[in-house]
Amino acid sequence: MSRQEWQNIFSAKTKGLVEKHGHNWILEFDDTIEADKQARFWYQYTRGAFARFRCSKCNKDWTSKKVLVVFHFQLNKSTRKGTVKAHHFRQECKTCEDAEMEKPKFAPDNIKALLEKLVERIDVRCYTKNRGNSSVRLRYFRKSDGPHEAAHCEACQKGFCGQAE
Ligand SMILES: [Zn+2]
Ligand SMILES: [Zn+2]
Repeated sequence: MSRQEWQNIFSAKTKGLVEKHGHNWILEFDDTIEADKQARFWYQYTRGAFARFRCSKCNKDWTSKKVLVVFHFQLNKSTRKGTVKAHHFRQECKTCEDAEMEKPKFAPDNIKALLEKLVERIDVRCYTKNRGNSSVRLRYFRKSDGPHEAAHCEACQKGFCGQAE
């Protein structure tokens, strides 16, 4: 259901691009993509957003102010198709042993804000003549306030949580 929500908001946000350029944009979820490791000719956009998690073992829930979401995107002008791949980084319960990595749940307003920024970035990268520096890297920010349990955060474990922008 949550993924359907992402799809709906994504369609709404890319409507302008679709109408203006006649390109079709699709959103895929792909947990194999990693920050700063985009395939050739793909652009990256990363952002942290507030999300909620629930442990599937003990049912405890918790929130995290900056859950890393990585997007890789590409426009194929010959097929007129744009593709966005998204990876939501997971976290695990800190009280359960052998806890599972849980997927974040984002509120609709946060999804809207994330996808709005993403579409702005797509517009700049794929449609604006002055594309800027395509090698812009993930910016590492100081840790946000509030507890962030690095040991229980998938992005931290992989070394690029960074509390992205
Ligand atoms: Zn638990
Ligand atoms: Zn982290």
